[in-house]
Amino acid sequence: MSLHDHHCVNALSATARERILIMDGAMGTMIQGLGLGEDDYTGHGTGMPCAHATDLPQKGNNDLLSLTQPQAIEQIHYDFAIAGADIVETNTFSSTAIAQADYGLEAAVHDLNVEAARVARRALDRATALDGKPRYVAGAVGPTNRTASLSPDVSNPGYRAVTFDDLRLAYRDQIRALIMGGADLILIETIFDTLNAKAAIFAAIEAFQAQGIRLPIMISGTITDASGRTLSGQTPTAFWHSVAHARPFSVGLNCALGAGAMRPHMAELAGVVDTLTCAYPNAGLPNAFGQYDEGPEETAAQLAGFAQEGLLNVVGGCCGTTPEHIRAIAEAVAPFAPRQLEKEQAA
Ligand SMILES: [Zn+2]
Repeated sequence: MSLHDHHCVNALSATARERILIMDGAMGTMIQGLGLGEDDYTGHGTGMPCAHATDLPQKGNNDLLSLTQPQAIEQIHYDFAIAGADIVETNTFSSTAIAQADYGLEAAVHDLNVEAARVARRALDRATALDGKPRYVAGAVGPTNRTASLSPDVSNPGYRAVTFDDLRLAYRDQIRALIMGGADLILIETIFDTLNAKAAIFAAIEAFQAQGIRLPIMISGTITDASGRTLSGQTPTAFWHSVAHARPFSVGLNCALGAGAMRPHMAELAGVVDTLTCAYPNAGLPNAFGQYDEGPEETAAQLAGFAQEGLLNVVGGCCGTTPEHIRAIAEAVAPFAPRQLEKEQAA
């Protein structure tokens, strides 16, 4: 192979054979908790003003905070790292030209991703200076707000709001910048449409080839309803067969349902995938106000059940999970061995 494997793969893979790896919790709900206003988002209040001009309101553009409030984002990463996270996700869920078009900030995509990776790296280096434990930056790649395989127009089922190539190019720019900023892994997450994920995988491989590096890819789908399918209609097993060609570092599920409802789908995946599994559910289902009520001990107890059943290699939290959730999860799964891959069991 002409590409050299990134240095961290071996160390991370070795640790994954010894214990369950811990991911961080949710960035979005932590940011909501800061109660920031428009001036905070643009940096014209207390932060660093954004150099990219736009007339559109920016409140809610959480990814912009990596540029305008880097200390706040660094603190969230640091708190998750100290709580026990081995892998921390960059604040780049919506840092593609497609998602940033809602805010008129397509031109900021390069800076958003480079700086987000650097902010995460700084936080992890501070944590490692304290306790000596190595930690890894996962460049987070979200699904965008458009789907390539479904029509948003019920009267025109053949219509598509975005093409595979639109997505591929947008993801390629994002992933290139994440690599430049120092990401150790690429995490393609919250996948509701497998075609979008395939565009992201393609883009990641293109970026690796262009930059002469190969980072581990983590792939995480989301089951959006009780029938146990993704929004584009796949079961967990079908989803795995659609992404296996990427030879991912891990495959799993995140977001949408809390741990309780996710369990049968993780059990199905754990039975079929020949790589590491990863689960990071929300803190239960959102209440009538869109908030998550499940406390750290409750989420942790359920995920300890996953671990006891041998379903887990990597675990963390999604919407509503705090550093306290991650600390509780890390403690709760610590007594259990990681899921064994079949080839290891045979050896
Ligand atoms: Zn979520």
